[in-house]
Amino acid sequence: APISAHRPIQALPDQLISQIAAGEVVERPSAVVKELLENALDAGATQITVRLEEGGVKRIAITDNGRGIAPEQLPLALARHATSKIASLTDLENVATLGFRGEALASIAAVAAVSVTSRTADAPHAWEIAGSHLGTVAPSSGAHGTTIDVQDLYFNTPARRKFLKSEQTEYGHCAEVVRRIALARPDVAFSLSHNGRTIDHWNVSEMARRSAHILGNDFAEARLAIDESAGPLRVHGYAGLPTASKARADGQFFYVNGRYVRDKLLVHAVRAAYQDVLHGDRFPSYVLALDLDPALVDVNVHPSKIEVRFRDSRAVHQFVFHAVQRALAKTSATDHGNAPA
Ligand code: ADP
Ligand code: MG
Repeated sequence: APISAHRPIQALPDQLISQIAAGEVVERPSAVVKELLENALDAGATQITVRLEEGGVKRIAITDNGRGIAPEQLPLALARHATSKIASLTDLENVATLGFRGEALASIAAVAAVSVTSRTADAPHAWEIAGSHLGTVAPSSGAHGTTIDVQDLYFNTPARRKFLKSEQTEYGHCAEVVRRIALARPDVAFSLSHNGRTIDHWNVSEMARRSAHILGNDFAEARLAIDESAGPLRVHGYAGLPTASKARADGQFFYVNGRYVRDKLLVHAVRAAYQDVLHGDRFPSYVLALDLDPALVDVNVHPSKIEVRFRDSRAVHQFVFHAVQRALAKTSATDHGNAPA
């Protein structure tokens, strides 16, 4: 029977509010991986370990060597709308961290069994909190940094559990998120394991090597370096030559201020730059990073922040289009289709 609409208005309990929010924030295991990786990077980590079990549904444990969380702050880390990253609207408008909404950990803790173990640089040992912000903080062991351990995703929300795909599919999404983030941060070492097996390990290196490692030699051997600036805008990275193009759009990585985005405007700008050199049914491969003053871009459009809005979208489109087009024009003038020696 349908739920009766004839009920008095009442405030929802905290747990339910977080479970509703979790619907947006924690779409699937890979969304948890993304949130935890972003937190590790925001904490200044230079080494991050991702351990997954059963596609992340059974377990996602991420360990970093970042600045850690003081024991008295551990409950706040799991509390809703609690963040160390912004304190005012001005902060929000200039936000330079990947996170700022203060709802990821609370949302995850509402739909999974979460424990946070952390040790700051000056602490003699680590501390741990389990469950929710109401849990007790107990002494623990571990190195400097933070481990967030998420187990049994959606154990208490069976309706959501039904939407999960196969272990292999969920694992694939998780691995893709790790690759995307690792590609943007060659200055950080990452390792990824699934069901106890190490799948990948990326040492600290430069963008040239990291992108070759993640996107493969085909891309590394057929790419053009780009680095252009104009006023507050800078775009840098690599545009694949037509020989590195694909039948699918799975070699396209665009970052705005270090954040992976899938933005129609940017995809279109790059696509347009390839117009003359690429057949219409092929997809260019690229790794491009756009950096600009945070005040010129709104990242607070969607909970996952995968979409952004530019203050001056025309200028951004023109800038990216011309930068990529100029790079491509240089080679087509000399040697069509092959990387310069
Ligand atoms: P947000 O990232 O939007 O602030 P989260 O719910 O993801 O919200 O995290 C809440 C807070 O917990 C963060 O603001 C940060 O202070 C702390 N935190 C979370 N993960 C880590 C981590 N890996 N290292 C250090 N601090 C962390
Ligand atoms: Mg966060």
